[in-house]
Amino acid sequence: MHNLSLTQLAAGLRSKQFSSLELTQSFLNRINSYQQLNAYVTVSSELALQQAEAADRRLASGDATPLTGIPLAQKDIFCTQGIKTSCGSKMLDNFIAPYNATVIDHFNQAGAVMLGKLNMDEFAMGSSNETSFYGPSLNPWATDCVPGGSSGGSAVAVAARLAAAATGTDTGGSIRQPAAHCGITGLKPTYGRVSRYGMIAYASSLDQGGPMARSAEDAALLMQVMAGFDSKDSTSVDQSVPDYSASLNDSLQGLKIGLPKEFFSSDLDSRMASTLLAAVDEYRKLGAEVVEVSMPTLALAIPAYYVIASAECSSNLSRFDGVRFGYRCHNPADLTDLYTRSRGEGFGSEVKRRILMGTYALSAGYYDAYYLKAQQVRRLISEDFKRALNEVDVLMGPVTPSPAFKIGEKTGDPVQMYLSDIYTIAINLAGLPALALPAGFIDDKPVGLQVIGNYFSEAKLLNIGHRYQQVTDWHLQQPHGFE
Ligand code: GLN
Repeated sequence: MHNLSLTQLAAGLRSKQFSSLELTQSFLNRINSYQQLNAYVTVSSELALQQAEAADRRLASGDATPLTGIPLAQKDIFCTQGIKTSCGSKMLDNFIAPYNATVIDHFNQAGAVMLGKLNMDEFAMGSSNETSFYGPSLNPWATDCVPGGSSGGSAVAVAARLAAAATGTDTGGSIRQPAAHCGITGLKPTYGRVSRYGMIAYASSLDQGGPMARSAEDAALLMQVMAGFDSKDSTSVDQSVPDYSASLNDSLQGLKIGLPKEFFSSDLDSRMASTLLAAVDEYRKLGAEVVEVSMPTLALAIPAYYVIASAECSSNLSRFDGVRFGYRCHNPADLTDLYTRSRGEGFGSEVKRRILMGTYALSAGYYDAYYLKAQQVRRLISEDFKRALNEVDVLMGPVTPSPAFKIGEKTGDPVQMYLSDIYTIAINLAGLPALALPAGFIDDKPVGLQVIGNYFSEAKLLNIGHRYQQVTDWHLQQPHGFE
C-alpha cells in the first residue's frame, strides 16, 4: 500500500481495497519500524486514527476530496492545534500551538490524515538537518549521509515511505535541496502563493511552504490544497488557483529551456553536469528547444541572502524571550537574566550565529553597508531572472553542487554548509517558483534537476515534471532496505 501514488491511494480507498484506518495503521507501523531514520519529531497516532475513521465515514458518504483519508505528514514548522510544534528547537520543545496554520486547516478540510510532525533544522536554518535539537534525520539512500535540510525529515519520510507525501518550507532551498538528496519531487511555489499564516517565521520575505512528494503528479494534488489567498497573511496574493492536475499531460513541444551558463560553469562537478545534461536531452526529445542564457548576478546570491535572511530572523526570533513562548530558564534572578538565559539555553549555535549576524547587519552604522546593499543586490538578481525568463519559458540547472554529503562533514565550516544552497537561494531572493526533480544517481545517491519558472507558473512546472516522469523512472527508485 505504501508504494501507491496519491491517485492510486484515492482509488483504493474508493473501491474499498483498504480503508483509511488500515492505510493509516500501516504507515504508523512503518514509522515505528524505521525510527532509526529520525524522520519524525512527533508521531500523532491517536489523532491520525481518529482522522482516518472520520475519513472513512466521509468516503462512505460520497463527499470526499482527492486527499480524504490519505496519511500525510507535516514539517514541524506548521502550527498544529493540540500537537507539539517544535520548529526543531529546544526553545519550542514544549510549545503546543493554540491554533492551526492555514495550510493545516486546508489539509483538515480536505480530510487528509496527519501522521505527525517532521524533523527539520532548528527554525529552518540549515542545509543538512543537523541543527535540529532532535538530532539529524538520516538519508535512507545512505544512512551515514545527511538528507539535506531544512525540510530533511519531510524528504526522508517521503523517500522511505513513512508518509504518502509531506509538506516542507523553503527560504533558500529547504524544499528543493532535501528533495534532491532523497530522490523525491519538491516544489517551492511563488512567494505569496501558499499562506504563511501559522508557519513559524524564519525570514518572512523569503519563506514559502510547498509540497514534497514522490512525483509531480502527487505534488499537484498537495499544491491544490495548499495554494490560495489567505487574508490572514498580508503577503498572500489574491490570484485564482488553477487546476494543477489538469495540465500535467500538456505537450512540451516548443518549450524553450534556458541553461544559465553560470550554473554549468567549470565549478560544477563533471558527473553532476553530465547527469543534468542527460535530463535536458530528455526534454529535447519531448520537443523542447534549449538555449544558453546568462545570469551574471547569480554569484552574489549567497552573500545577499545571508545578510537578508539573518536580518529578518534576528527580528522574527526576538519574540522568543522566555516570557510568551516556549522555553524558560530555571530560577531567573531578574528580568535580564530571564531573557538572556532563556535565549542562551533555548537556541542552538547556528540560530545564535544568524541572530548575531542579523543584528549586526541591521545596527546603525552598518545598515547601509550590509542590509541596504543586500537589498539592492536582491533587486539586481530579480532583474536578471526577469530578463532571462523573457527569453525562455523555464531555466534548468542543478539543485545542489553534489549528492548528499556525510553527516558531520560540513558542520565545522558554516560557509561550506551555506554553499550547499548556491543553486537554490537566488530563486527565493527573486520570489520565483522552482521544482526539484529526481534526475539520476551518482555513487548510488540521488541527484536533482531544478526547473525554475516565472511567477505563478506552478502548473507549468508540474507539467514539465510530470512529462519527464512519464519517460524516466528515477522517481520510482527506492532506497534499499526501506522498500
Ligand atoms: N540552508 C539555508 C539556510 O540555512 C536555507 C534554509 C531554508 O530554506 N529554510 O538559511
